Amino acid sequence: MQALGRLGVTKVSFVGLGAIGAPMARHVAAKGELTVWNRTRATADAFAAADACRVADTPREAAAASRIVITCLPTSREVEALLDGPDGLLAGLAPGALLIDCTSGDPGSSRRIASRLAPHDIAFVDAPVSGGVNGALQGALTVMCGGDDATFQRALPVLQMFGRKIVLVGPIGAGHALKAVNNAWLAAHIWAAAEGLAALTKAGVKPSVALEVINASSGRSNTSENLVPQRVVTGAYPRTFKLALLEKDVAIAAEFMREQRVPSAVTQQVAELFRVARDVLGEEADHVEAVRLIEQWAGVEIRG
Ligand code: NDP
Repeated sequence: MQALGRLGVTKVSFVGLGAIGAPMARHVAAKGELTVWNRTRATADAFAAADACRVADTPREAAAASRIVITCLPTSREVEALLDGPDGLLAGLAPGALLIDCTSGDPGSSRRIASRLAPHDIAFVDAPVSGGVNGALQGALTVMCGGDDATFQRALPVLQMFGRKIVLVGPIGAGHALKAVNNAWLAAHIWAAAEGLAALTKAGVKPSVALEVINASSGRSNTSENLVPQRVVTGAYPRTFKLALLEKDVAIAAEFMREQRVPSAVTQQVAELFRVARDVLGEEADHVEAVRLIEQWAGVEIRG
């Protein structure tokens, strides 16, 4: 592990203690010397009370406390906004520092952020994660990184605190592009599973029986193996990953494919469907709750 602080302890600052950020930061607190900043101060105070770390008053103070700073915010927009101003990250980041952005952001913004940091000798890597809140709790996230190899090697010891599969996938922005494509597949799987199971339910096939067969067949996915059995068939619908954030991811994937001039009718359609779902279900709905919309349209519940 890279020794950056006193007595070889890695000093890390973590910005954004949301549903996935908090369990990630918890692993950093257990293995390094952590400073946190969160927009809602009470969340940071509660986190620090349980996890013994420092709470910074401003993003600037968080950035100044460590040479490695992690952001985990809803979109690249919030990351870019937090850079600026007298209390912004840029005012606190020292030359030689490294900003690791674990937000599921967009590739163009990442390239813009990196080019703003470079003249100040601040390195950047986009490092979005996959594996959900459970993966974060277990310290078993997949981390997909965009950047150069030297920066990746610097980030690796910190990413290993909460990640299991950590891969440098390409230049700056490549991590965010890959994450968006991954989540577009997730969204497509959810939508297709709900349509298929709604029709099968109407035709008298029990969802649990349909899943038993499909999960031993070629149509299976993480959605059919885990999300639908645990959340839809049971009606549990825990709120772990906002549908609004998945909608954002599919929109990034759709835009990325247009930019690459790849015919992408399926992804564009899924982006449109999730836009509708977000409008109807609102900002707080969980991503799997898209199924509820399809159930409503089909006039059937996928249960049992
Ligand atoms: P949440 O909505 O749970 O948390 C968002 C965090 O960002 C909170 O700490 C919130 O602070 C902060 N925030 C929101 N707006 C601003 C702002 N304008 N300025 C400063 N801080 C702000 O999101 P998640 O933790 O679920 O997701 C974070 C990122 O990780 C997203 O990009 C998401 O797509 C990605 N992700 C999420 C997964 C999941 O399972 N949840 C899985 C994989 C990736 P406050 O407490 O004040 O609201």
